[in-house]
Amino acid sequence: MIKPFTALATTAATLLATSLLALPAWAVDVAFKPVAEGVYAYIGDIEGRTYDNEGLNANIGLVVTPVGAVLIDSGSSYQVAAKIHEAVKKVTTQPLKLVINSGDQDHRWLGNGYFTEKGIETLAHADAQADMQARSGEQMDGLKVLKERLDGTRPTLPARFVKAQDSTIDMGGVLIELKHRQGGHTPGDTLVWLPQKNVLFSGDVVYVDRVLGLHPVSRTKTWLDSFAVIDQLKPKIIVPGHGQVTNLATAQAHTRDLLLALRAHMKKAVDEGVDISAAVKAFNGKPFAHLKHADVWLPQLANQTYLEMERE
Ligand SMILES: [Zn+2]
Repeated sequence: MIKPFTALATTAATLLATSLLALPAWAVDVAFKPVAEGVYAYIGDIEGRTYDNEGLNANIGLVVTPVGAVLIDSGSSYQVAAKIHEAVKKVTTQPLKLVINSGDQDHRWLGNGYFTEKGIETLAHADAQADMQARSGEQMDGLKVLKERLDGTRPTLPARFVKAQDSTIDMGGVLIELKHRQGGHTPGDTLVWLPQKNVLFSGDVVYVDRVLGLHPVSRTKTWLDSFAVIDQLKPKIIVPGHGQVTNLATAQAHTRDLLLALRAHMKKAVDEGVDISAAVKAFNGKPFAHLKHADVWLPQLANQTYLEMERE
């Protein structure tokens, strides 16, 4: 049937309006970039969680081995996990065999549901379990800004928990070492070290370019214990949890030295009986002022560290 011209025009206008409305403002485009032979990273946004960045404001790692691919962190949602999987397929024809959650913050594990559904094994350190269980609701609430982009996401615990502080996974001769020192940013924080490639996926033990985050579950003391392992390993390449691919000196300056400064200042304040607001005000954040979000976050970090030193 041939529609009269006006009807056609109306249909076209309606279609155009609908397609414009349906057009997303912006969405995450996951693409892995090589950092060493067979090793890749996706470098995420260093802003907070937004509809546009889909909560993937963190880095994701990929290791291609002769017996399959290994992903470091599953992303912030079911839909993001699907995009990560597509990005993996663009890099390698090897099937994805294993997903390691390097910590228990949302963007490290809330994509697990997708990979579990695909029959891909998921793994984390055992110290992540309680926090994943306790905070999954809170983490989902924090991602409400994703609106319909959070659809399909169900917090899914990893299939396997590793108890040892040091363990090695051999993937067809490619060694993947997991190193856990009671966490830091989150209780399950685990370093993923590739000794043959001289590459470290630090997870949230290293933040560069932006200021690190402290939550009530964070512990600066064990965070520094985890960092001490990095000092010993002296990785040539560090893929941090947040920020650009970096080296040891930058990781030390942007993360370790900030933790050391916070703890030294707050230990003195607590020992001398200085009250929290005066201690927070007196913290010298100038050496870290160039880091993104420093103005907003440094007082919060100072506050959190004071409370931790008081408990210690
Ligand atoms: Zn993080």
